[in-house]
Amino acid sequence: MAEVAVIGGGVAGIQAALDVANHGVRVHLIERQPTIGGHMAQLDKTFPTNDCSMCILSPKMVDVARNPNIILHTLSEVTGIEGEVGDFTITVLRHPRFVDEDECNGCGDCIEVCPVEVYNEFDAGIGVRKAIYKPHPQIVPDVTIRDADHCIDCGLCYDVCGKDAVLREEKEKEFTLHVASVIIATGFTTFDPQIKGQYGYLRYPDVITSLEFERMINASGPTGGKLRKISDGTAPESILFIQCVGSRDMTIKHGYCSGVCCMYAIKNAILIKEKNPSIEVTICYMDIRAYGKGYEEYYERAKDAGIRFLRGIPGEIIRTKTGMEVPVEDTETAEYEVLTPDIVVLSVGMEPATGAKEIAEKFGIPVDDNDFFQPEDLKLAPVNTIKPGIYIAGAAVAPKDIPDSVTQGEAAAMRAFRDAIRAG
Ligand code: FAD
Ligand code: SF4
Repeated sequence: MAEVAVIGGGVAGIQAALDVANHGVRVHLIERQPTIGGHMAQLDKTFPTNDCSMCILSPKMVDVARNPNIILHTLSEVTGIEGEVGDFTITVLRHPRFVDEDECNGCGDCIEVCPVEVYNEFDAGIGVRKAIYKPHPQIVPDVTIRDADHCIDCGLCYDVCGKDAVLREEKEKEFTLHVASVIIATGFTTFDPQIKGQYGYLRYPDVITSLEFERMINASGPTGGKLRKISDGTAPESILFIQCVGSRDMTIKHGYCSGVCCMYAIKNAILIKEKNPSIEVTICYMDIRAYGKGYEEYYERAKDAGIRFLRGIPGEIIRTKTGMEVPVEDTETAEYEVLTPDIVVLSVGMEPATGAKEIAEKFGIPVDDNDFFQPEDLKLAPVNTIKPGIYIAGAAVAPKDIPDSVTQGEAAAMRAFRDAIRAG
């Protein structure tokens, strides 16, 4: 029976892989990180229901690991493709994990003894991990990874591992797969706010991104869910969200709306108020885009919770001896104000994942003006590309929330499955 490949193990790719596999067709899920889960695994709660993100994602991740029709290739990237629908050959490069996936049982003894601490990418830089580590406790596959760049080769992890799973040497491995169809679900990366230097990101410690905030407010994150000023570790009395950072901004040639940041800022503002009603929360916005089912009601709920919505985008953040000043014009009243928040959260926009354009070139499919994958027809064939047998889903196509990413994963799965059945 012909097989299918899915590139990217975020929620869109996971959904696509599960749908194809549950219909009896074998799927290769190719993820370049050590674990599947994508950005959804980093989130605390999800709008508009405030479900715990991992509580709804983790069962799907475990289903992937347990599904006999899914072959999971982590730390892997596609380097080439040949052929046509029904008969593609794709080349995959697997980077070393320096831990034997078949032997490691995920006990974490090696992590305990490792003396090295470096910043944890999964915690968006506000937490630390060891040189042998799991990005977070619920990873799939549940095996550690040794970060050879930071490892000091002290030997403690090799000695403590009862399964001899830690590897001193491992080489990159290239292999080929034969598949009938491919689903590209490579997702997004967040805008780097250092490009908007006037906001002082990475220069002012209490200016953080929305993804960093998601990790900070998460009970299993680096602060145990406690809101803290990074500058001095004290609890904040006021928090300001600045919207559209890296979106709807022609000065940096990002004219598009990132779609989800109004809603995730409202979500995080509600969560702050639920946990700490005394914290003053302000959202500086251009327009509020609450377009989905239940979203407008969620916005109303935020207003009722005492969150201040100020229509106006600050031009700069000024660092003072005692904190920060944020001058802004309220464009509804034409009044000029200077806000003095303890923490500023930059609601960063979405960009295509690093390397997405190169994948498009290899696959011979177009990207749009913003380098997101271009569907064959935006309205009537939104998960098709111009190439039969190559489908796209999720935030790789355009900024998207979780429900829309899942829907596209399901739609692409149906098409890829059909190609596999036709190929026999
Ligand atoms: P991703 O989650 O980005 O997953 C893509 C996967 O592909 C990743 O695992 C990546 O490593 C992998 N990948 C990338 N390139 C390659 C490659 N070349 N080869 C192999 N693998 C590759 N949405 C909601 O609905 N509710 C919310 O509350 C919410 N809050 C948010 C808060 C923040 C701060 C942000 C930034 C977004 C939020 N979102 C929310 C949006 C949500 O994160 C996205 O809708 C969702 O993650 C999109 O899923 P995806 O699978 O398309 O992409
Ligand atoms: Fe700006 Fe809201 Fe669009 Fe995000 S969703 S770019 S914050 S308007």
